[in-house]
Amino acid sequence: MKFWNKNLRNMAEYIPGEQPQNLDEYIKLNTNENPFPPSKAVIEAIKNACDDNLRRYPNPTAVAVGQCFAQMHSLTVDHVFVGNGSDEIFTLIFRGFIESKERAAFPYPSYSLYYTLAEANGIPYDKITLTKSLDVDFEKFLEKNYALIIVANPNNPTGKKINKKDARSFLEKFKGLLVIDEAYVDFYGETLIDFVKEFDNCIITRSLSKSYSLAGLRVGFAIAHPDIIRGFIKLKDSYNVSRLAQAGALAALQDVKGFRYSIQMVRNNKEYLEEMLENLGFETIPSHANFVFTKHPKVSSKELYEKLKERKILVRWFEGPIQSEYLRISVGTMMEIKALVKELRELVER
Ligand code: PMP
Repeated sequence: MKFWNKNLRNMAEYIPGEQPQNLDEYIKLNTNENPFPPSKAVIEAIKNACDDNLRRYPNPTAVAVGQCFAQMHSLTVDHVFVGNGSDEIFTLIFRGFIESKERAAFPYPSYSLYYTLAEANGIPYDKITLTKSLDVDFEKFLEKNYALIIVANPNNPTGKKINKKDARSFLEKFKGLLVIDEAYVDFYGETLIDFVKEFDNCIITRSLSKSYSLAGLRVGFAIAHPDIIRGFIKLKDSYNVSRLAQAGALAALQDVKGFRYSIQMVRNNKEYLEEMLENLGFETIPSHANFVFTKHPKVSSKELYEKLKERKILVRWFEGPIQSEYLRISVGTMMEIKALVKELRELVER
C-alpha cells in the first residue's frame, strides 16, 4: 500500500482475542474480562452523566478521577495520568519516551501489544525469553543498554507475578525507563506502585478493565514521577477520556466494597477452576491473575482450543515457542467453569 510508511509496511498487527458478534451463543473465556458485572453505582453514574452537558468537552485530564486514584495510593495527583485504557498509555510511551535509534526489550511470552507498538514506531527491540520457571529474566535485561523495558506484573499469559526484590535490584542498576504493567495486579494485591516514589525511571500502569469489570469503558492509569506525567499530558489527545468514562471511573473507584467483593469472587472461582483442571490431569502454572495458563500432558492445546471453539467455548491459544504448549483460560462464572470442565473432560478422556 503506497500510503503506508516503512514501519507500517513491516509491522505485524496486534491480534486481539475474538469478540464474536453473537456473544450470547458463546462462553467467552478468551480475553480476561471479568465475568461479573460492574458496580451498580457505575451504571448509575454513567446514566446520570447522560445529560445536556454531553455537548461540553470533558475535563481534559480527568482530574477528579486522577485525584481519587492518587488518594487511594497515598500519592499526590501530579503522580497520576488518566488514559483511555492502559493501551493508550503504552502508545504514548512509544510516541514520546524513546528515540528511534534506541533499543527496547520485553519479556517473551508476554502481552504482544508491546512488540506491535515497537514495530509501529520503528523501535528496534529484543524479546527476552522467560526463565525455565517462567519468570522475568532481569539479569538478561541488563546485558544491553536498553532505553525502554516493559514487564507485566502479573505477566500475561503466564499469570506469574514479579518478584519485588528482583525488580528493586534491577531498578537500582538500570538507567533506562522501566514500565511495569499492572493490568491484573488487583487479583493478587501486591502492587509495585511505591517504586515511583523512589525511582524516577519507573512507570506503573493500571487498568479498570479487569478488576473493575470495565473493559468497555476504557480507563487506565500511569503512575510515575511528575516529570513523566507532564510528558504524558503533552503527548495525549486533547480530551482522551470521555465524559461518560470519567463519570463511570470515579464511581468505580469509590465503590470499594463492591470492588473487594468482586475480586474475592474471581479468586474463589479461580481456585475452583485450578482444582477442576488438576483433577483432569492438567498442569497449571499457579496464577496471580484472573486467568490460568495450563496444559494437558496427553492432548495438544491447539486441539483443545479448536474443539472447544466448535462447542462454543472460547479460550486463548497463542502460536509460538513456549506459549503454544498452553491454553490461557480466563476465570468465568461457576456456570461457565462447569460447562468448560464438562467439555474438557470429554475431550481429554476420549
Ligand atoms: N496489559 C495487559 C498485560 C493486558 O493483558 C491487557 C489486556 N489485553 C492490557 C494491558 C490492556 O488493558 P486496557 O484495557 O486498560 O487497555
